[in-house]
Amino acid sequence: MVDLKAWLNEQREKGRLRSLRPVIAREKGRLILAGDDNRTLLDFSSNDYLALAEHPALIAAAQEALSRFGAGSGASRLMSGDLAVHHDLEQAVAQLKGQEGALTFGSGYMANTGIIPALMGRHDLIFSDRLNHASIHDGCRLSGAKVIRFRHNDLNHLEELLAKNRGTTIPLIVVESIYSMDGDRCPLRELVALKERFGCLLMVDEAHATGVFGPNGGGVIEEDGMSGAVDLAVGTFGKGLGSYGAFVAGNREMIEYLVNRARSFIFSTALPPAVAAASLAAVRLIRHEPGLRHELQEKIGYFKGVLRKGGYEADLGPSQIIPIVVGESEAALHIAELLRKQGIFVTAVRPPTVPQGTARLRFSITRHHSTTDLSQAAETLLEIMER
Ligand SMILES: *Cc1c(COP(=O)(O)O)cnc(C)c1O
Repeated sequence: MVDLKAWLNEQREKGRLRSLRPVIAREKGRLILAGDDNRTLLDFSSNDYLALAEHPALIAAAQEALSRFGAGSGASRLMSGDLAVHHDLEQAVAQLKGQEGALTFGSGYMANTGIIPALMGRHDLIFSDRLNHASIHDGCRLSGAKVIRFRHNDLNHLEELLAKNRGTTIPLIVVESIYSMDGDRCPLRELVALKERFGCLLMVDEAHATGVFGPNGGGVIEEDGMSGAVDLAVGTFGKGLGSYGAFVAGNREMIEYLVNRARSFIFSTALPPAVAAASLAAVRLIRHEPGLRHELQEKIGYFKGVLRKGGYEADLGPSQIIPIVVGESEAALHIAELLRKQGIFVTAVRPPTVPQGTARLRFSITRHHSTTDLSQAAETLLEIMER
């Protein structure tokens, strides 16, 4: 057992101690934090990219389900918690992702820690991008398979490792399509070519891409026309879809297998009906209202344009997640604090979440932001960085 007091003190001294701070009010991309003199901050830390959490269609669907079915689902899906809304949601997700079927999970964390160990075991090999989300790493570890991490988005490295480690079982390649801390995108077509050449299974986590990319909001997989080549398309309802929960889409056999083997699915209570109904409303919205996506893309372009015009030269990436890398943790915290004083709330992301020396501010653009909000934030940031 660790010495709690010593550990906490050490983290505190290093400026690494995390703590919780409740939001006491939130509306339209603005929030008020507890103990902050009721100051309204402009929120650049939310993953609710399309501003669906407050969308009337999601709220109405949730309210309707709540009054018809109650607050909870009462049991796991394999017991008596399985409702029609779960099936409707899975059908809508399968269609969105261009797959035969889909399965919902309690969260993205539970999806990754359930799916990977269901498929891979002690005698298997997993090739995992070094920058993959913690839930993917944890799923890999839990599986007991041999995990080989390749350099982030480095296909030469992956190819070299695939060639060097040829086993007797089918290996798994696991990546994200839009990376959560860098906002960059995986080279999906090239990954598919490698997966086919080496006979691997390919799993793509679209946590930050679903709803935001693709002509129907089906993510980078849809945008790159790779639905047929991806074996497991994972996503969360908690980010661009404005709700909570997660899913995997795949072929019929895969889904049937996971119903029987994914422990985080089997041994956990089904999503509450209101939450599933809100997610279903969100999936329908993103398919039928591409304008939501276009509006977001315009805002992202606008924010990046202001930074460029102001002389910011480093890479801003291809997505709604914009990393402003500043180097040391203290510097990132300091800039975040100065921004907060000016009414802008942005997360300072520090090691161990990102590599040593790459502490950053992670701006996430949402549909809530007006052009005035965006230029104000970009100009304030430029001013602070020039000091
Ligand atoms: C956020 C995230 C998850 C976890 O999803 P939750 O639904 O929040 O648990 C999984 N994978 C990736 C890549 C993520 O960014």
